[in-house]
Amino acid sequence: MKRTTIISLVLVFLAVSVPLLVSSFAGSGDKKEAGAQQSGAPSGVSAENASGTEADGFDMSFSIKFKNGSDVSEIPMADYLIGAVAAEMPASFEIGALQAQAVALRTYTLQKILAGGSDAHPDADICSDSACCAAWRSVEQLEENWGTDFDAYYEKIRQAVTSTDGVCITYEGQPAQAVFHSSSAGMTEESGAVWSASLPYLVPVESPEDEQQVPNYVSHVSVSFDDFRETVKEQYPEAALEGDPEDWIGDVVLTGSGRIDHVAIGGVQVPGTSLRSMFGLRSTAVQIDITDSSVEFTVTGYGHGVGMSQYGANAMAEKGSSWQEILLWYYPGTELSDADSFVNQAEG
Ligand SMILES: [Zn+2]
Repeated sequence: MKRTTIISLVLVFLAVSVPLLVSSFAGSGDKKEAGAQQSGAPSGVSAENASGTEADGFDMSFSIKFKNGSDVSEIPMADYLIGAVAAEMPASFEIGALQAQAVALRTYTLQKILAGGSDAHPDADICSDSACCAAWRSVEQLEENWGTDFDAYYEKIRQAVTSTDGVCITYEGQPAQAVFHSSSAGMTEESGAVWSASLPYLVPVESPEDEQQVPNYVSHVSVSFDDFRETVKEQYPEAALEGDPEDWIGDVVLTGSGRIDHVAIGGVQVPGTSLRSMFGLRSTAVQIDITDSSVEFTVTGYGHGVGMSQYGANAMAEKGSSWQEILLWYYPGTELSDADSFVNQAEG
Protein backbone atom coordinates (compact mmCIF):
# COMPACT_ATOMS: atom_id res chain seq x y z
CA MET A 1 0.00 0.00 0.00
CA LYS A 2 2.65 2.42 1.08
CA ARG A 3 4.70 1.46 -1.89
CA THR A 4 1.94 2.42 -4.20
CA THR A 5 1.58 5.70 -2.43
CA ILE A 6 5.17 6.58 -2.68
CA ILE A 7 5.35 5.62 -6.31
CA SER A 8 2.44 7.81 -7.19
CA LEU A 9 4.18 10.54 -5.31
CA VAL A 10 7.21 10.02 -7.50
CA LEU A 11 5.25 11.17 -10.50
CA VAL A 12 4.13 14.32 -8.74
CA PHE A 13 7.62 14.92 -7.46
CA LEU A 14 9.19 14.49 -10.85
CA ALA A 15 6.71 16.84 -12.36
CA VAL A 16 7.55 19.65 -10.01
CA SER A 17 11.22 19.31 -9.36
CA VAL A 18 14.47 18.90 -11.12
CA PRO A 19 16.39 16.17 -9.36
CA LEU A 20 19.60 17.58 -10.69
CA LEU A 21 21.71 16.53 -7.81
CA VAL A 22 20.43 13.03 -7.83
CA SER A 23 21.81 12.17 -11.19
CA SER A 24 25.10 13.79 -10.44
CA PHE A 25 25.31 11.74 -7.28
CA ALA A 26 25.24 8.52 -9.18
CA GLY A 27 28.80 8.85 -10.31
CA SER A 28 30.23 10.52 -7.29
CA GLY A 29 31.10 7.35 -5.51
CA ASP A 30 31.91 9.19 -2.42
CA LYS A 31 28.98 8.89 -0.20
CA LYS A 32 30.05 5.35 0.21
CA GLU A 33 33.67 5.92 0.91
CA ALA A 34 32.59 6.27 4.32
CA GLY A 35 32.60 2.84 5.52
CA ALA A 36 36.00 1.79 6.50
CA GLN A 37 34.99 -1.70 5.63
CA GLN A 38 33.99 -2.03 2.07
CA SER A 39 35.05 -5.19 0.40
CA GLY A 40 33.64 -7.61 -2.10
CA ALA A 41 30.13 -7.65 -3.41
CA PRO A 42 27.56 -8.96 -1.01
CA SER A 43 25.91 -12.28 -1.69
CA GLY A 44 22.77 -13.87 -0.40
CA VAL A 45 19.75 -12.04 0.85
CA SER A 46 18.97 -10.59 4.19
CA ALA A 47 17.69 -13.04 6.75
CA GLU A 48 13.97 -12.57 6.93
CA ASN A 49 13.00 -10.12 9.56
CA ALA A 50 16.61 -10.06 10.59
CA SER A 51 15.83 -7.05 12.64
CA GLY A 52 13.31 -8.47 15.03
CA THR A 53 11.75 -5.02 14.83
CA GLU A 54 8.21 -4.25 15.86
CA ALA A 55 6.01 -5.43 13.05
CA ASP A 56 3.94 -2.26 13.02
CA GLY A 57 6.84 0.17 12.77
CA PHE A 58 7.55 2.05 9.55
CA ASP A 59 10.74 0.18 8.76
CA MET A 60 9.11 -3.24 8.97
CA SER A 61 5.97 -2.31 7.06
CA PHE A 62 7.63 -0.31 4.29
CA SER A 63 9.22 -2.60 1.74
CA ILE A 64 11.75 -1.66 -0.86
CA LYS A 65 12.89 -3.34 -4.05
CA PHE A 66 16.45 -4.26 -3.27
CA LYS A 67 19.00 -5.46 -5.77
CA ASN A 68 21.72 -7.63 -4.32
CA GLY A 69 24.12 -8.89 -6.97
CA SER A 70 21.72 -9.93 -9.74
CA ASP A 71 18.80 -10.76 -7.41
CA VAL A 72 15.99 -8.28 -6.92
CA SER A 73 13.69 -8.87 -3.99
CA GLU A 74 11.29 -6.91 -1.82
CA ILE A 75 12.58 -6.61 1.70
CA PRO A 76 11.52 -4.50 4.67
CA MET A 77 13.35 -1.19 5.04
CA ALA A 78 14.49 -2.50 8.46
CA ASP A 79 16.43 -5.39 6.95
CA TYR A 80 17.94 -3.16 4.32
CA LEU A 81 19.04 -0.57 6.86
CA ILE A 82 20.69 -3.01 9.23
CA GLY A 83 22.82 -4.40 6.41
CA ALA A 84 23.59 -0.94 5.06
CA VAL A 85 24.49 0.70 8.39
CA ALA A 86 26.70 -2.29 9.18
CA ALA A 87 28.46 -1.96 5.84
CA GLU A 88 28.82 1.82 5.83
CA MET A 89 29.99 2.52 9.39
CA PRO A 90 32.21 0.59 11.81
CA ALA A 91 30.01 -1.16 14.40
CA SER A 92 32.50 -0.10 17.07
CA PHE A 93 31.30 3.51 16.67
CA GLU A 94 29.15 5.18 19.32
CA ILE A 95 25.47 4.30 19.22
CA GLY A 96 24.60 7.97 18.55
CA ALA A 97 26.73 7.94 15.39
CA LEU A 98 25.17 4.66 14.24
CA GLN A 99 21.69 6.09 14.84
CA ALA A 100 22.56 9.18 12.79
CA GLN A 101 23.86 6.87 10.06
CA ALA A 102 20.63 4.86 10.09
CA VAL A 103 18.56 8.02 9.63
CA ALA A 104 20.85 9.26 6.85
CA LEU A 105 20.58 5.94 4.99
CA ARG A 106 16.80 5.75 5.47
CA THR A 107 16.53 9.27 4.08
CA TYR A 108 18.88 8.51 1.20
CA THR A 109 16.77 5.47 0.28
CA LEU A 110 13.43 7.31 0.45
CA GLN A 111 14.85 10.21 -1.48
CA LYS A 112 16.08 7.84 -4.16
CA ILE A 113 12.65 6.21 -4.47
CA LEU A 114 10.94 9.59 -4.70
CA ALA A 115 13.39 10.75 -7.32
CA GLY A 116 12.43 7.82 -9.51
CA GLY A 117 15.08 5.27 -8.57
CA SER A 118 18.28 4.66 -10.43
CA ASP A 119 18.90 4.50 -14.16
CA ALA A 120 21.43 1.80 -13.40
CA HIS A 121 18.70 -0.56 -12.16
CA PRO A 122 15.15 0.47 -13.11
CA ASP A 123 13.87 -2.77 -11.58
CA ALA A 124 15.09 -1.89 -8.08
CA ASP A 125 14.95 1.10 -5.75
CA ILE A 126 18.40 0.59 -4.37
CA CYS A 127 21.28 -1.85 -4.75
CA SER A 128 24.09 -3.28 -2.69
CA ASP A 129 26.88 -1.87 -4.85
CA SER A 130 28.76 0.81 -2.94
CA ALA A 131 29.84 2.43 -6.19
CA CYS A 132 26.19 2.84 -7.22
CA CYS A 133 23.98 3.19 -4.13
CA ALA A 134 25.36 2.15 -0.73
CA ALA A 135 27.28 -0.83 0.58
CA TRP A 136 25.26 -3.60 2.21
CA ARG A 137 26.06 -6.83 4.10
CA SER A 138 23.94 -9.89 4.69
CA VAL A 139 23.69 -11.47 8.13
CA GLU A 140 25.96 -14.27 6.94
CA GLN A 141 28.59 -11.80 5.79
CA LEU A 142 28.39 -9.93 9.07
CA GLU A 143 28.86 -13.16 10.99
CA GLU A 144 31.96 -13.78 8.98
CA ASN A 145 33.27 -10.21 9.31
CA TRP A 146 32.57 -9.78 12.98
CA GLY A 147 33.33 -13.25 14.33
CA THR A 148 32.93 -13.39 18.09
CA ASP A 149 31.73 -9.77 18.16
CA PHE A 150 28.73 -10.63 15.99
CA ASP A 151 26.05 -10.81 18.70
CA ALA A 152 27.04 -7.54 20.36
CA TYR A 153 27.59 -5.65 17.11
CA TYR A 154 24.44 -6.93 15.46
CA GLU A 155 22.35 -5.94 18.46
CA LYS A 156 23.94 -2.49 18.46
CA ILE A 157 23.18 -1.89 14.79
CA ARG A 158 19.67 -3.30 15.20
CA GLN A 159 19.09 -0.82 18.01
CA ALA A 160 20.45 2.05 15.95
CA VAL A 161 17.81 1.24 13.32
CA THR A 162 14.85 0.41 15.56
CA SER A 163 15.36 3.33 17.94
CA THR A 164 15.13 5.72 14.96
CA ASP A 165 12.30 3.82 13.26
CA GLY A 166 10.75 5.82 10.45
CA VAL A 167 12.71 9.02 11.10
CA CYS A 168 14.08 10.82 8.09
CA ILE A 169 15.68 14.17 7.38
CA THR A 170 13.52 16.61 5.47
CA TYR A 171 13.99 20.01 3.95
CA GLU A 172 10.87 21.95 3.00
CA GLY A 173 8.82 18.82 3.43
CA GLN A 174 10.88 16.56 1.17
CA PRO A 175 13.52 13.98 2.10
CA ALA A 176 16.90 15.69 2.05
CA GLN A 177 19.96 14.64 0.08
CA ALA A 178 21.48 12.97 3.12
CA VAL A 179 24.95 12.43 1.73
CA PHE A 180 27.84 11.60 4.01
CA HIS A 181 31.55 10.93 3.91
CA SER A 182 34.19 9.32 6.06
CA SER A 183 36.12 12.20 7.56
CA SER A 184 36.36 15.93 7.00
CA ALA A 185 39.23 18.37 7.27
CA GLY A 186 38.05 20.69 10.02
CA MET A 187 35.05 21.85 7.99
CA THR A 188 32.60 20.05 5.76
CA GLU A 189 32.21 21.11 2.12
CA GLU A 190 29.33 22.78 0.32
CA SER A 191 27.59 20.61 -2.25
CA GLY A 192 28.08 23.08 -5.09
CA ALA A 193 31.84 22.67 -4.84
CA VAL A 194 31.52 18.97 -5.62
CA TRP A 195 28.33 18.57 -7.65
CA SER A 196 26.22 20.72 -9.88
CA ALA A 197 23.81 22.12 -7.30
CA SER A 198 24.25 24.07 -4.10
CA LEU A 199 21.75 23.03 -1.46
CA PRO A 200 21.06 25.26 1.54
CA TYR A 201 21.59 22.45 4.04
CA LEU A 202 24.76 21.05 2.45
CA VAL A 203 27.02 23.90 3.52
CA PRO A 204 30.29 24.03 5.46
CA VAL A 205 30.05 23.35 9.19
CA GLU A 206 32.81 22.60 11.66
CA SER A 207 33.62 18.92 12.08
CA PRO A 208 35.44 17.90 15.26
CA GLU A 209 37.36 14.74 14.31
CA ASP A 210 41.16 14.84 14.34
CA GLU A 211 44.18 12.69 13.69
CA GLN A 212 43.89 11.02 17.09
CA GLN A 213 40.51 9.61 16.13
CA VAL A 214 40.76 8.94 12.41
CA PRO A 215 43.06 6.35 10.83
CA ASN A 216 45.11 7.91 8.01
CA TYR A 217 43.57 11.30 8.73
CA VAL A 218 46.55 12.83 6.95
CA SER A 219 47.82 10.87 3.97
CA HIS A 220 50.59 11.43 1.45
CA VAL A 221 50.87 10.75 -2.26
CA SER A 222 54.16 11.17 -4.06
CA VAL A 223 54.20 11.41 -7.86
CA SER A 224 57.35 11.56 -9.99
CA PHE A 225 57.55 14.45 -12.44
CA ASP A 226 57.19 12.07 -15.40
CA ASP A 227 54.10 10.40 -13.96
CA PHE A 228 52.64 13.74 -13.02
CA ARG A 229 53.10 15.12 -16.52
CA GLU A 230 51.71 11.98 -18.14
CA THR A 231 48.65 11.83 -15.90
CA VAL A 232 47.79 15.49 -16.32
CA LYS A 233 48.39 15.42 -20.09
CA GLU A 234 46.06 12.48 -20.49
CA GLN A 235 43.23 14.55 -19.04
CA TYR A 236 44.40 18.02 -20.09
CA PRO A 237 46.50 17.71 -23.26
CA GLU A 238 46.78 21.48 -23.48
CA ALA A 239 48.61 21.75 -20.15
CA ALA A 240 52.12 23.13 -20.65
CA LEU A 241 54.34 20.90 -18.53
CA GLU A 242 57.77 21.53 -19.91
CA GLY A 243 60.63 23.29 -18.23
CA ASP A 244 61.16 23.66 -14.51
CA PRO A 245 58.59 21.66 -12.49
CA GLU A 246 58.68 24.45 -9.91
CA ASP A 247 56.68 26.48 -12.44
CA TRP A 248 54.09 23.82 -13.24
CA ILE A 249 51.75 24.62 -10.39
CA GLY A 250 50.22 28.08 -10.39
CA ASP A 251 47.55 29.68 -8.24
CA VAL A 252 45.53 27.49 -5.93
CA VAL A 253 42.00 28.72 -5.23
CA LEU A 254 40.31 27.27 -2.18
CA THR A 255 36.64 26.66 -1.48
CA GLY A 256 34.98 28.15 1.57
CA SER A 257 35.90 25.05 3.56
CA GLY A 258 39.60 25.26 2.66
CA ARG A 259 39.63 22.49 0.06
CA ILE A 260 41.00 22.99 -3.45
CA ASP A 261 38.38 24.55 -5.70
CA HIS A 262 40.75 24.73 -8.63
CA VAL A 263 44.46 24.92 -9.28
CA ALA A 264 46.39 26.14 -12.29
CA ILE A 265 48.50 23.30 -13.67
CA GLY A 266 50.59 24.06 -16.73
CA GLY A 267 48.35 27.06 -17.33
CA VAL A 268 45.12 25.04 -17.22
CA GLN A 269 42.49 25.47 -14.51
CA VAL A 270 42.02 22.04 -12.96
CA PRO A 271 39.11 21.52 -10.53
CA GLY A 272 40.01 20.07 -7.16
CA THR A 273 37.67 17.14 -7.78
CA SER A 274 39.52 16.35 -10.99
CA LEU A 275 42.90 16.61 -9.27
CA ARG A 276 41.60 14.21 -6.65
CA SER A 277 40.47 11.59 -9.13
CA MET A 278 43.55 11.89 -11.35
CA PHE A 279 45.90 11.11 -8.49
CA GLY A 280 43.66 8.95 -6.29
CA LEU A 281 43.74 11.45 -3.44
CA ARG A 282 41.51 10.71 -0.45
CA SER A 283 39.96 14.19 -0.52
CA THR A 284 40.34 17.64 -2.05
CA ALA A 285 41.82 19.06 1.17
CA VAL A 286 45.26 18.98 -0.36
CA GLN A 287 48.55 20.74 0.04
CA ILE A 288 50.86 20.52 -2.98
CA ASP A 289 54.64 20.66 -2.68
CA ILE A 290 57.35 20.30 -5.30
CA THR A 291 60.52 18.50 -4.24
CA ASP A 292 63.69 17.83 -6.25
CA SER A 293 62.13 14.87 -7.99
CA SER A 294 58.42 14.71 -7.32
CA VAL A 295 55.10 16.39 -6.68
CA GLU A 296 53.97 15.72 -3.11
CA PHE A 297 50.33 15.78 -2.05
CA THR A 298 49.48 16.01 1.62
CA VAL A 299 45.82 15.17 2.04
CA THR A 300 43.50 15.58 5.02
CA GLY A 301 40.35 13.53 5.61
CA TYR A 302 38.60 11.08 3.35
CA GLY A 303 35.71 11.63 0.98
CA HIS A 304 33.95 14.48 -0.79
CA GLY A 305 33.43 16.27 2.50
CA VAL A 306 29.74 17.05 1.92
CA GLY A 307 27.04 16.39 4.54
CA MET A 308 27.68 14.27 7.59
CA SER A 309 31.21 13.26 8.46
CA GLN A 310 31.06 9.78 9.96
CA TYR A 311 34.13 10.21 12.12
CA GLY A 312 32.87 13.66 13.04
CA ALA A 313 29.53 12.14 14.05
CA ASN A 314 31.38 9.64 16.21
CA ALA A 315 33.48 12.39 17.80
CA MET A 316 30.31 14.36 18.55
CA ALA A 317 28.63 11.29 20.06
CA GLU A 318 31.69 10.65 22.23
CA LYS A 319 31.27 14.15 23.61
CA GLY A 320 27.63 13.48 24.41
CA SER A 321 25.73 14.74 21.36
CA SER A 322 22.56 12.84 20.52
CA TRP A 323 21.87 11.49 17.04
CA GLN A 324 19.34 14.28 16.55
CA GLU A 325 21.95 16.90 17.41
CA ILE A 326 24.47 15.27 15.10
CA LEU A 327 22.08 15.26 12.15
CA LEU A 328 20.87 18.82 12.66
CA TRP A 329 24.49 19.91 12.93
CA TYR A 330 25.62 18.31 9.68
CA TYR A 331 22.41 19.11 7.76
CA PRO A 332 21.65 22.60 9.08
CA GLY A 333 18.18 23.93 8.47
CA THR A 334 16.63 20.51 8.00
CA GLU A 335 14.04 18.84 10.20
CA LEU A 336 13.67 15.34 11.50
CA SER A 337 10.35 14.01 10.29
CA ASP A 338 8.33 10.85 10.62
CA ALA A 339 8.54 9.06 7.29
CA ASP A 340 5.22 7.36 7.98
CA SER A 341 3.30 10.60 8.28
CA PHE A 342 5.30 11.94 5.38
CA VAL A 343 4.25 9.05 3.15
CA ASN A 344 0.63 9.27 4.35
CA GLN A 345 0.61 12.98 3.85
CA ALA A 346 1.58 12.41 0.26
CA GLU A 347 -1.65 10.51 -0.20
CA GLY A 348 -3.75 13.55 0.51
ZN1 LIG B 1 22.43 1.14 -7.12
